[in-house]
Amino acid sequence: LPRFDCDTDYDMAFEEFQNAAIDYLSKNRDTIFDAPVVSAKSAVAKAEPVSYGRDRPFPAPLALKKLLSQPGSNKETMHYELDLKGSELSYRVGDCFAVYPQNQPAEIAAIMDALGMDSDDVVEWRGDVMGIDQALQRACLQQITLDMMRLIAATSGNASRPAAVALNEGGDALEEFRQGHHIIDLLQTHKTSGIGPQTFVSALRKLQPRLYSVASSPTAQPDRVGLVIETLRYEWNDRSVQGVASCWLADRIDESQTVPTYVVKNDDFQFPYDDRPVIMVGPGTGVAPFRGYLAELEARRLSNETWLFFGHQHQAFDYLYRQDLERWFESGVLDRIDFAWSRDQSDKVYVQDRIAEQGAELWRWFERGALVYVCGDAKGMAPGVEAAFAAIAEQHGGKTDGQAWLQQIIAAGRFKTDVY
Ligand SMILES: Cc1cc2nc3c(=O)[nH]c(=O)nc-3n(C[C@H](O)[C@H](O)[C@H](O)COP(=O)(O)OP(=O)(O)OC[C@H]3O[C@@H](n4cnc5c(N)ncnc54)[C@H](O)[C@@H]3O)c2cc1C
Repeated sequence: LPRFDCDTDYDMAFEEFQNAAIDYLSKNRDTIFDAPVVSAKSAVAKAEPVSYGRDRPFPAPLALKKLLSQPGSNKETMHYELDLKGSELSYRVGDCFAVYPQNQPAEIAAIMDALGMDSDDVVEWRGDVMGIDQALQRACLQQITLDMMRLIAATSGNASRPAAVALNEGGDALEEFRQGHHIIDLLQTHKTSGIGPQTFVSALRKLQPRLYSVASSPTAQPDRVGLVIETLRYEWNDRSVQGVASCWLADRIDESQTVPTYVVKNDDFQFPYDDRPVIMVGPGTGVAPFRGYLAELEARRLSNETWLFFGHQHQAFDYLYRQDLERWFESGVLDRIDFAWSRDQSDKVYVQDRIAEQGAELWRWFERGALVYVCGDAKGMAPGVEAAFAAIAEQHGGKTDGQAWLQQIIAAGRFKTDVY
């Protein structure tokens, strides 16, 4: 069988592989199997009922929607709770929930407009026949696929335009072009005449679910899951862009509607419920799993030693879950909390700076068997936090090579990251 390489949008490639595999196995079963082959029909008959998952998300009613950031913040951050009753979905702190969003109607309209299509146009989308607008609801309207590049480059009048030039050049130029534009940018700056609805949708990939860290305790709220989500709005290529999932939830879903969701287990980011101390680093929405863990400790009446490093731009606007954190600090569920408000003074201060300041004490926690958890921004924060811990090992732990020590404790499961 040929190898099929899959990325997150694996459905079509997997389906092709599955069909090829079934075909191969059925043609060669005499030589492959010693034992009699169970027919596909009887195997299906014995199968367990399908549970909710990626291919069958649970339509969870939105039970609560609340603004967490204060008016005046540069970042809108929301708290959502999904009602899981009847789903039999179970989760642990450290897991994620995947959410299937819907595209913005204005973006669908802009694409149809750029292509001169109307809602009477019918297409086939992944085996089903539907109106073009419905197909565009199911497709990723941002990422430009290679097929889309080829389609636009081959369209009459585009031979010397940027997409064709980037495609011919390939390599970094092609990647840069694809990263620097969404589909609507491409359509509005290139000729599109002659591109039919079916040809266009065939060059799109499926809209992907978005992952969100659990921010609640399954013991305290077994039928609900809490999520903390930053609403993404930004200016780009001279237009206002909205994050697909975060703006769908913030702007177009209310408490009477449902959110298609499923659980994504994360065995590599599980928390201890024995007496080991826990150091948590979670600025911004990275606080999610730590809110879940502290709520879980409270619900189970456990008293692990806990230390949270939280950060954001401004204390006055961005202190997420302030009431919860203050309550846990007062009751002793949370033993220590250090803040990094990056824009409350002239010099920017981040969680990694606070970690460096607390090096001696952190090393003592480490010697007592502490586990470190880091959640949130993968680009700036996580490498900065890793470097800060490596420096602490050299400065306070007498290690000659802090990076080597860090790799060892990562391998030993004492330094866990869940970053995005
Ligand atoms: C394991 C995991 C856990 C996560 N947990 C959380 C969580 O708890 N809370 C949370 O809020 N998010 C979380 N995320 C991120 C989340 O999955 C989404 O990626 C996020 O909400 C954005 O999705 P969206 O559909 O709103 O935006 P999209 O439409 O997907 O747009 C996001 C993209 O926009 C681009 N972009 C963003 N800002 C700019 C800018 N200023 N200029 C140019 N381009 C820009 C980037 O390419 C970015 O990838 C998690 C991700 C992972 C992988």
